[in-house]
Amino acid sequence: MIVVMEKNATEDQIEHIAQRVQQLGLRAHVIRGTERTVVAAIGDKRGGERESLASSPGVSDVVPILAPYKVASREVKPEPTCVSVLGFAAGAGAVGVMAGPCSVESEEQIVTTARAVKQSGATALRGGAFKPRTSPYSFQGMKEDGLKLMALARQETGLAVVTEVMSTEEVELVAKYADVLQIGARNMQNYRLLEAVGGSGKAVLLKRGASATVEEWLLAAEYILNEGNPNVMLCERGIRTFETHTRFTLPLASVPYLHRKTHLPVIVDPSHGTGHSYLVPDMSVAAVAAGADGLIIEVHPSPETAMSDGYQSLDFQQFDDTMQRCAKVAAAIGKHLH
Ligand code: PEP
Ligand code: MN
Repeated sequence: MIVVMEKNATEDQIEHIAQRVQQLGLRAHVIRGTERTVVAAIGDKRGGERESLASSPGVSDVVPILAPYKVASREVKPEPTCVSVLGFAAGAGAVGVMAGPCSVESEEQIVTTARAVKQSGATALRGGAFKPRTSPYSFQGMKEDGLKLMALARQETGLAVVTEVMSTEEVELVAKYADVLQIGARNMQNYRLLEAVGGSGKAVLLKRGASATVEEWLLAAEYILNEGNPNVMLCERGIRTFETHTRFTLPLASVPYLHRKTHLPVIVDPSHGTGHSYLVPDMSVAAVAAGADGLIIEVHPSPETAMSDGYQSLDFQQFDDTMQRCAKVAAAIGKHLH
C-alpha cells in the first residue's frame, strides 16, 4: 500500500504513519517527492490496515500498489531517481558514461584507459577484477590486486570506480575499493548477494540476467532496495534468444518500458549486448536516443590483445567518436552527458 500524505503534512505526522505501518507488521519506506511525501507500506497484508491508516491525521489517501515490485515502482515514487557518485550521475536528465576494459590487466592498461576515457567524457571507470567466466580455464581476473589498480586509477583521474562482486563473502573487500558494485548477469537472481550489496552502502549496477524477464529483474532490484539502499541502477545487457548474429539480443525497447514502470535509472551495455565492436557505436547512440540514463562500454588500449572480450571492445579513438555522437543525441533530447 502507499500512504499518500497531504501536501502540508508535518514531519510528526509522517513519522507517526511510519511507526503505525511498522506496528501493523509492515515495512515503512518514506519517500519524499517534490510535490508530496508518501509512505510505502511493504509486506504481507492481513486486512484492515488500509482503513486504519486512512483515518490518521495528515493522510490524503491510501492506495494499493499494483506492481509486484513495490519500492522500485513508479507508483511509489513518480519522480525519476538520479544515482550520483563522485562526478558520475545517471537519471533525471543526466546520462552517465562508464567505460573501461572488461578486465583489469595491469597498472599501465587501467591508468592509460582511465585517462583516455575521462578525456572523452566518461565519468566512471569500469573494469573487472573478479571475472565470471563461462569457462574455468579462462582468465579469472586479478582479484584484490585488480581492485587496488582500480583505486589507483581513481586517485589519478577522479573517475568513480565500477567493478563486479561475485559472492557474498567478497562484498566487504570489493566495497573497500569500489564506488559502484556491479552485479553480473549470472548473479542477478543470487538473492543473498543482492541483500549483501543492499547493505553495503554502495551504489549498485544490477545487470539483467540473460534469460530474466523485466519483472524478475525489477524484483531482483527490490531485494537491494529493501535493504534501505536507494542507489540502484538497472543495466540492460542483452538477453539470450534464437538469434546468433549478435552475442546476445539487445532489446532497447526495455529502456522506455522500464521508464514507465520504475523510477530507477536504466543503463545500457552495448558491448555485451552485441558482442561486436563494430556494432557498439551505433547501439550506444541508439540507447541514448531511446532514453537511456547511462552507458557502460568496454574500452581497451589494444582490443586485439585484451585478455577478455577484446572483440567487443572499442579503442580510444572509436570511444571518443562514439562519445561525441552520443553527446549530440543527448542534447537533441534535452539531456546531457554526465
Ligand atoms: C562484464 O561486465 O564484463 C560482464 C561479465 O557482464 P555480464 O555480467 O553482463 O555478462
Ligand atoms: Mn566483458
